[in-house]
Amino acid sequence: MSAAVFLDRDGTLIDELGYLADPDALRLFPGAADAVAAWNRAGLPVVLVTNQSGVARGLLDEASLARVHARLAGLLGRSGARLDLILHCPHHPTEGEPPFRRACSCRKPEPGMLLEAAERLGIDLGASWLVGDAERDLEAGRRAGVRRLLLVATGKGIAADARLRERGVDDYELVADLAAAAERVLAGSSG
Ligand SMILES: [Mg+2]
Ligand SMILES: [Zn+2]
Repeated sequence: MSAAVFLDRDGTLIDELGYLADPDALRLFPGAADAVAAWNRAGLPVVLVTNQSGVARGLLDEASLARVHARLAGLLGRSGARLDLILHCPHHPTEGEPPFRRACSCRKPEPGMLLEAAERLGIDLGASWLVGDAERDLEAGRRAGVRRLLLVATGKGIAADARLRERGVDDYELVADLAAAAERVLAGSSG
């Protein structure tokens, strides 16, 4: 059983561009590939967990999403970085048509994707990290038993941080971006 890093996609690893269907529009955040490569070198599995309700909404299909993720892997690869597993939730509880329109257990804040990854890769959830830019990322981590929660200030992170502080939630750390998250994880894992 090993610790892992669970990573949100939009607003955390890449620019948030709505329902991204065009691989060529994908933009990695500066320093993001190096952050993933640093986790790779440290032997930490990196698992991408992403809500993609655009599939349920009919805005992209699974084939387009696969092309986007192939492009993502290609861009990361240029920096010697790789994702060990990519899981996505194509569902939405109320939009679109079945089978994608359903209340599922994988759409964050539900923990399904994290639990599936843990089973497939033999991950110790209690020793793992979650990095995201939204409340529902952190909540998916909590529900899966991940206790080391990092909120990045990219994407929706600043607004999410303000709302969480207002509610008195303090079980996470705010970091500037994915590069800062990588430093935080690597410092914490050695302690
Ligand atoms: Mg996000
Ligand atoms: Zn789902």
